[in-house]
Amino acid sequence: MNCKKIVWQYILRGLNEKFWDNKVKDIPVFLKDLGYDRLGEFQFIGNTGINSILLSKDAGLSTKEMIGVLAHEMTHQWVFQNHGCEVEEHGEEWMAEIRKIGFDEENLDGLTFCDDDLYAYLMTRHDEMLEHDERNAE
Ligand SMILES: [Zn+2]
Repeated sequence: MNCKKIVWQYILRGLNEKFWDNKVKDIPVFLKDLGYDRLGEFQFIGNTGINSILLSKDAGLSTKEMIGVLAHEMTHQWVFQNHGCEVEEHGEEWMAEIRKIGFDEENLDGLTFCDDDLYAYLMTRHDEMLEHDERNAE
């Protein structure tokens, strides 16, 4: 295990490719202290603003667990894009989508979502995107 810094925006893009055919808007992901019992948050700004996703950096989560939390929050953005902001936060639209991407109904927080295969895929894509962006920045 190395301790390189993960660019969470690339993880979002990897999940977006794999589960949503890049149809989820590329909204910013921020790491923030949210307290031990809040794992993540989808911030809804409104039709004219840019939504964002916060991931807890002080809840003691592993990278794999954070990936699942990110997928949970991305599903909120997907529902927002397709159904607006009048539907329930974890209502039927959200539930249908979270099932479709393979969430276990007993673990809707996402902590058990990311298995070894998904993790390996996302890290490979992460490194490819990082290399690509570094090359273009030179
Ligand atoms: Zn939620």
